[in-house]
Parts: sequence; structure tokens; C-alpha cells
Amino acid sequence: MLLQCAFCHKSFSVAKVTQTRGKGIGAQIQCPKCQAWLGRHKSLTVGKIAGFYIAAFAGVAGYFMDNVMHIVTPTIILGVILVGVMHIMDHLILIEAPEDASSQDV
Ligand SMILES: [Zn+2]
Repeated sequence: MLLQCAFCHKSFSVAKVTQTRGKGIGAQIQCPKCQAWLGRHKSLTVGKIAGFYIAAFAGVAGYFMDNVMHIVTPTIILGVILVGVMHIMDHLILIEAPEDASSQDV
């Protein structure tokens, strides 16, 4: 999975990230190319998780209950669409510019 830095706009692999701070949804990562701190839109991440659980819950409900497929199927589709849309919109945002920003060749 490749991420794009919101500061230097270069793509880098998640595996190249060595500096992180914070935990969970609010976690921030440091760009390995320009050392800018990057984070995620919390609302988009929450929406993605919500969509996943909606789809998963509907799937489980459809498995254990009869005659609900006409409700369950569109709910799963909606959940999957929600996750997909959130995933497309979810990109890194700049939290803190690198300290020596003036020396960067951007
Ligand atoms: Zn960068």
C-alpha cells in the first residue's frame, strides 16, 4: 500500500515509515522523504469503520434470520459502498511541516 505525502506529494510505502506518534484513529506518521508529520481525517476513518460494521452486522443477521434477505442485501451493498467512498476520500493530511522546510526542494 502506497501513501502520498500531503507536504512533498511524493509516494512512499507504509513499510518505509519509521516514525509514528499517537495511537488508534488519531495516530500520526512521519513522511520518510521530507519528515513532515501526517495524519488522517478522523471522520472519514470513523465512517469507514462504521460502514464495515454495518455490512458485517447485516451479513450476520442475514445468516441467522430467515426472510430478511430483501433488507440485508441492500444494507450490505450500502455498507460496502460507504467503505469504498470513504476509502477513496481518505488521504493523508498535513499535521506539521518539517522543521527545515526552507531547505526542501519542493
Ligand atoms: Zn513528504
